[in-house]
Parts: sequence; structure tokens; C-alpha cells
Amino acid sequence: MALIRLTPRQEKIIEIVKGSGPITSEQIAKQLNLTRATLRPDLAILTMSGILDARPRVGYFYTGKTANAVLAEEIRRFRVKDIKSVPVVIKEETSVYDAIVTMFIEDVGTLIVVSEGGFLEGVVSRKDLLKVTIGQNDPKQVPVGVAMTRMPNIVTTTLEETVFMAAQKIIEHQVDALPVVRKFVKEDGKEKLEVVGRITKTNITQLFVELGEGK
Ligand code: ADP
Repeated sequence: MALIRLTPRQEKIIEIVKGSGPITSEQIAKQLNLTRATLRPDLAILTMSGILDARPRVGYFYTGKTANAVLAEEIRRFRVKDIKSVPVVIKEETSVYDAIVTMFIEDVGTLIVVSEGGFLEGVVSRKDLLKVTIGQNDPKQVPVGVAMTRMPNIVTTTLEETVFMAAQKIIEHQVDALPVVRKFVKEDGKEKLEVVGRITKTNITQLFVELGEGK
């Protein structure tokens, strides 16, 4: 999939630089029968995107990177900590009714279930809550503990992980959100995961939009 679309003239410039680089902008202009001024914006785009590089008094040369490789590199630079949201957490004993109310108030589709101290115990989604409420259950009496997906089956991410990796996990496991966690060793030596954030499809869509806007 071609993610960066270059103009025919930009493609031609790349071919010339590939074949005869290092080459000055004057020489490129000559080969194309254009003026240097006309070429300037194209050369700016090609150097800014990392496809060409320029050395003073030497000229332009091809970096060997394709436009897509440059874009991929750029995308993989973002980390979960750059775009995460605050986690919306509840306790396992919370009623299904209160969990639904929390979803509405906080405007989220995934609640993270934690134990005392903010440690990850599970995740409860909209459909998890729908499922228990269509049974013969009183949502005020049933705790989310019966509806949630539990550890160790929770797919998580960390602050330093790339957004790209987190997005891959979301697609692979077909979930809407990942708790962002940090390893924590309790006094008894047991390892727990402290919940420090939440990353959702919305965060990633937002990043996509901002990238598209050139921010
Ligand atoms: P919904 O069920 O509302 O479509 P999801 O697609 O996020 O929302 O959830 C699908 C199932 O996966 C649910 O049973 C939910 O408990 C579970 N789930 C959601 N997020 C995670 C996660 N990060 N790790 C493991 N399971 C998850």
C-alpha cells in the first residue's frame, strides 16, 4: 500500500538523484529543464520526508529509504505515554448497575477492575454488562466480578511501549481498550500490575487525525 503519494516530478527527481547523486539542485533542474526555484518546494518535501538528504557544497543524495519506510519510522516513534487517557476504574464488588452508571457518567466503553491499591484484576466491557443484564439477574445485586474478564487473561500495555505495538494488540485480540500498567512488587514478593492509564481505539484514531492534519 502506497501511503505517501509523490508527484510524478518528485518521482523523477528521486530517479535522477538515485542515478547521479550526489548532485546539485542546479544540475537536477538542468536535467528537468526547470528552474531551481521551481524545484525548491519538491526538494524541500523530499528532504523533509527523509527520502533525500543534502550536504552543503556536495548536493543531494538518496538515503535509500522509501516513502513508506519513512512514514513507518515516524509512526513507530509515538509511545503509549504520549496519547494515553486516565483509567476509569471500579472494584470487583461494584454492582453491574453502578458499573453501567459509571460508563455513562465517564463516557467510556471499558472499565478497568482494580483491587485495593489500584492493581489490575480485570476488565469489563459494554457487552459483558449487556450479557448479564439480559439474564434473569438484578443488576443492583450482581457484582461486576461475575461479568468481567479476569487476570491473567488481560492484554496490557506499558508507558514506554509504542502506540504501534499497542494498536497491533488491540487488533490481534479484538478488544477496544488496553490497561496501561507498571510492574509492582508487593511486600510479600508477589508481582502485581499497577494501573496507570488506558489506551483505546479512540486515542489511536485521534492520533491518526492529528497526523493527518500535519500537527
Ligand atoms: P465489547 O465486548 O463491548 O465489544 P471489547 O471488544 O473491548 O468490547 O471486549 C470484548 C471482550 O474482551 C469482553 O468480554 C471484554 O471483557 C474483553 N476485553 C476487553 N478488553 C480486554 C483486554 N484488554 N484484555 C483482555 N480482554 C479484554
